[in-house]
This record gives sequence, structure tokens and C-alpha cells, in this order.
Amino acid sequence: MRLLKELEQKTAMELGEELHRFAANLSLICRSITGDGLRQTLAAIQSRIPLEISEVPTGTQVFDWTVPKEWNIRDAYIKDASGKRIVDFQTCNLHVLNYSTPIHTTMSLRELWPRLFTIPERPEWIPYRTSYYQESWGFCLSHNQMQALVEGEYEVCIDSTLTQGHLTYGECYLAGRSTDEVLISCHICHPSLANDNLSGLTVATELAELLAGRDLRYSYRFLFIPGTIGAITWLSRNCENVRRIRHGLVLTGIGNESGFHYKKSRSGNAEIDKAMAQVLRDSGAAYELLEFSPYGYDERQYCSPGFNLPVGCLMRTVWGTFPEYHTSADNLDFIKPDRLAESLRVCASLVDVLENNRRYRNLSPYCEPQLGKRGLYRSTGDQAIEAEINARLWLLNLSDGEHSLLAIAERSGLSFEMIRDAAEVLRENGLLAPVSELGTNGSLDAAAGNIAEVTSRG
Ligand SMILES: [Zn+2]
Repeated sequence: MRLLKELEQKTAMELGEELHRFAANLSLICRSITGDGLRQTLAAIQSRIPLEISEVPTGTQVFDWTVPKEWNIRDAYIKDASGKRIVDFQTCNLHVLNYSTPIHTTMSLRELWPRLFTIPERPEWIPYRTSYYQESWGFCLSHNQMQALVEGEYEVCIDSTLTQGHLTYGECYLAGRSTDEVLISCHICHPSLANDNLSGLTVATELAELLAGRDLRYSYRFLFIPGTIGAITWLSRNCENVRRIRHGLVLTGIGNESGFHYKKSRSGNAEIDKAMAQVLRDSGAAYELLEFSPYGYDERQYCSPGFNLPVGCLMRTVWGTFPEYHTSADNLDFIKPDRLAESLRVCASLVDVLENNRRYRNLSPYCEPQLGKRGLYRSTGDQAIEAEINARLWLLNLSDGEHSLLAIAERSGLSFEMIRDAAEVLRENGLLAPVSELGTNGSLDAAAGNIAEVTSRG
């Protein structure tokens, strides 16, 4: 499978605009960690990929946490004395402190003041604030809007419900030849935030759509979940199954104009960490690799010590480090079609590495085999041909059944694609044979580091 090659048939603009359109379709939904906004979002994803939707009742104990009450909202506003809506949920769903309890009353500006949230340093922007686990209510507005408020009485209304209900999440499972899994997880709980929410789920949906119906080496599990509580809930219901996860990636904040940041898994040297480093190096994009830290997105839960799963996190800008983070400026203009397309390509390239990363054994290991007589050695001085020959020599040298293609790419400094192509040529010429990898229980032995004997000849 060469997923990246297939994507190259579309221009970055065509691909990017498709991705951006899907994000735009979802941008007005008022999402939260529970409620109908989540269901609407999952229904839109389900219209494109097979998605199993789970509803977990309020009050369900999930490790040290409890599934909260379900929150829904119809309307919210602050009206001035003339009856004019001066803060209106209908114009921007960030205006309400997410998870606000219902209220309908009249109060003075002095009483209302402590319930208002703004960003004084960015007076035009509306902050995104939540109060999931402490019942409260409030409004978020631009600092300019707040400054314009005059003394007097205000009608305050939040037409919300916070009741016994469910936490909703969606799961797309694509069965491969092995029961070993690749986990792709993204949060879907933020209201109209584009980079921190929509970018991840948009790219994940597209990737799942690309993989659906294919002959896959791994099984793939895509999770569309509310942040933190969703991951904790899913993990608590899948304690046994998570051991099948061989590689995992949290996808978030991958639509804006910035280089990539990849945060490594807790172990720091999982195959996903090496694969992502290789993919980013090969992509030609600017990137930085970050060591694991216990703060961030849902990798925090997957990498908690009880699970310690090989899950990293792909972002562009890091959470909390850009001014638009958790504000109304993280909108559809902030995410760029070409950046979404590039992020999808990086994910496709990662799948290519994971699907094709194998170990081979050199079938002619005593001195170099004579490549010239097989038409595999041409000395023309052409750089591309020299790199090709170089890749073949690296493969022949390191294919001792222990070095994977990824390890050979890393050590040689050549791209994974080049190493994989060279392996294919050498296999066709009877010089390399893949190490058998399918063990008992449908698990991939090679991925676990066990070396089986060579069972097939190319
Ligand atoms: Zn966030």
C-alpha cells in the first residue's frame, strides 16, 4: 500500500479544500463533553465512515472519575434595558461558559460582573471557558464588549439543561490481517474551535475514509471522543483490548500555519516515535520532536503508567503556546486548506511506514552479491541512481533479520520510501526474504521484536 502516492494525485489545494469544507460544516455546532452537539458531530462523521456510537450513562464510574450529567443548550443572552441582546449565543456559541447551569433573571451590572470572562490583552476576541466539574454559569465576551456595558439592570438568560443523560463517543474499527491495532484518537468536545478540535477530527475522518475497505496489515481504531473524560471512559471500558494497541497517535491542532510538533510517547523510543520522526524528516516540512510530558491532550490518559501505551501526539503549534488558543480567533480562517492537506499527507506517510515496516534477511550474506550481473548496479554518476544503489547496499548489509526497514532508513539517512522500494527490488531478485511475522493469535511477532525464521523466498 502506498497511501501517500495516491494522495499526490490531488493537489494540496483540492485536498485541503475538501478537508476545510468538512471542518466548516461542523463549525457552528455547540459541542461539549456531553450532549447533542457531540451527537450531531458524530452523525456527520458517521455519514462518511463506519462509526459505532456508544452512550455511557451519567454516574458511571470510570477509574477515579464519574461520567458527568449531560449538558444541552438552546439559547443564551444578556439583554440591556431596551431589550436588545448585547451578548448573544446565537451569534457565537463561545459566549456561554461551556456547561453553564440554567438561569433566567434580572441583575445589576455589579452582580453580573464576576460572571463575565474576557481577554484584556486581546480586546476583540472572545475566550473559550468551561466549568465541567463545578456547577456554575457565566458569559464569555470580548473585552471591548464588556467595557461598553453601562450601569443598569440586565436580563440574563441561559436556556440550558444539566441532567441525567449520557456521554457519547464514536469508534471506527477497520479490521486488518492482524488483530494488532493502530489507534488514532482525537477530541471532539470543543465548540466552534477550528484548530484545537476540528482540524484533528477532519484529518482523522479523511484518513479513516481512505483506509476503509483496504487490505491492511494492522487493524485501525479511530476514536472520536470528548477530551479527558472521553479517553478515560473509553479506556475504562476497554482495559483488556488496549493491549492490542501497537502504535497510537493523538491528532490535534494540525490546521494552522506552523511547523509540526510531535510529542513522543511515554517510553520515548516506541516504533511510533521512530516512525513519526522518519516521516517528518522525509516530509521536508519544518518540525520539532518533543519529549513526553504528563500535560497535554489525551496521550496523558493513554500514557498513564497503568496503560503506558505507545501513543504520541501530532500537533502543529503546541497547546497553550499560541495567542489564538482557546479563543474565538481559533476559527475557520486560522486553519488553512494547504496545512490540513499537508497534515493528512504526514498521517498517510505514517500509515505507509507502519504498514510496510518489516525485517528482511539477506539471502546472499557472504560478501556483497554481484549486483551488476542482475542489472542492479549502474554507475552513471547520476545522483538518484547512486542513492538507489546506496539504499540497496544498506539493505543488504543490515538485513540480518533484526534491523527493520525503519531502522535502516534511520541509520542510512535515506528516506523510508527509498529503502522500501529498494527492498522490493532486492526481494524480486531473490536477494532478500521477509522475516515471517504472523505469530499465534493473529499478533505480529516482528513488531514485538521476536525473530522468526525465513519462510518465504521472493
Ligand atoms: Zn482545547
